[in-house]
Amino acid sequence: MKTPIYFDNAATTPVHPKVFEKMKPFLEEEYGNPSSIHSFGRKARVAIEEARETIADFIGANPSEIYFTSGGTEANNFLIRGIVNAEFAESCRDEIITSDAEHHAVLDTYEELDKSNFKARLIEVNNQTKVELSKISNSISTKTSFASFMYANNETGSINPVKEISEILKPKNIFFHTDAVQSFGKIPVNVKELGIDALSASAHKINGPKGIGFAYAKSGTPLSPLLFGGSQERNRRGGTENIAGIVGLAEAVRIRKETMSDTFEHVSLLRRNYINGLKSLDSRSITINGGEDALPYIVSLTLDSQSYRNDSDSMVMYLDINGLAVSSGSACTSGTIKASHVILASGYKPEDAAGTLRISFGYQNTIDEVEQGLEIMKRFLEKFRK
Ligand code: PLP
Repeated sequence: MKTPIYFDNAATTPVHPKVFEKMKPFLEEEYGNPSSIHSFGRKARVAIEEARETIADFIGANPSEIYFTSGGTEANNFLIRGIVNAEFAESCRDEIITSDAEHHAVLDTYEELDKSNFKARLIEVNNQTKVELSKISNSISTKTSFASFMYANNETGSINPVKEISEILKPKNIFFHTDAVQSFGKIPVNVKELGIDALSASAHKINGPKGIGFAYAKSGTPLSPLLFGGSQERNRRGGTENIAGIVGLAEAVRIRKETMSDTFEHVSLLRRNYINGLKSLDSRSITINGGEDALPYIVSLTLDSQSYRNDSDSMVMYLDINGLAVSSGSACTSGTIKASHVILASGYKPEDAAGTLRISFGYQNTIDEVEQGLEIMKRFLEKFRK
């Protein structure tokens, strides 16, 4: 058995060899600063603008609507704070809405805004961690100015009905941001077709490098900068650009453009086999989260606490020692392990939520690895069964 097996691709992915090859020259001989007017600088500038075009084309945007950031966290902060502060800080439209199953990069940004001029409203998700359209309709008022609902959930893979959400928000002139970090490059994302005003994405979830991502903001969107001190990115994101990262992101996108549907089929097969294998190990006490149409890259499972000694961190450690790298549905907050807010938001009791594991696949995973993974899971379930 070849171990360890890496099934934690929703946390991060290995850099694709072609991405690495594209990045290398920009760490070696092509080291110019894109703001310089000499030939070194001009080469770097061309590389950035070509990357911007590749990315814009991939999501149906214009290059001038793309801003490079240090990743998904910064893109979320930049778009949410940048739009509401630019347009609504002094306005009576001070209500901003989101769901209780968002990534902390969105939730904590809302919490900060709630401490200033805004009133943040959290909409409860259903038991599949999806936001329901009727709840959105019921939560908005004439004071609502901004909404953020993630495309695919990073813990369960559930997919929100983004187009239908935009159809509710648009007639009310409510800005719509989506955190697409887990769906970008995995399922089609076209901002025009979906009616999205602002979108966040990250390279390291799609075999690009860490520390680079982008924000899309529809042309004409009011947007104040988060970082001051440089005129880069059309005065909206100061700081010398991470050129190797930007080039790596664009190459990861180019590869995804060619392979997205094949990879989708591949991970769908892995997911089906994994879930069927799990069901044959225990058909009664394992629940798969996220709904039937969840992103096939993610399997989120919860063990019934009546049958298992649930403690997701010990479970992840046991699996790690036995050669399987997965993640738990918990977070360490102020030194204590707490079940994830996402899993709790879907309605589990804390003792059940504590038995949640996330297995997430990438293009490089194989059917053999799924079979080996299931053997490890067999021993794991025996070990933790009450
Ligand atoms: N949003 C979602 C849904 C994520 O899954 C992540 C990363 O796990 C982020 C935002 C943060 O992205 P980054 O790691 O690029 O800052």
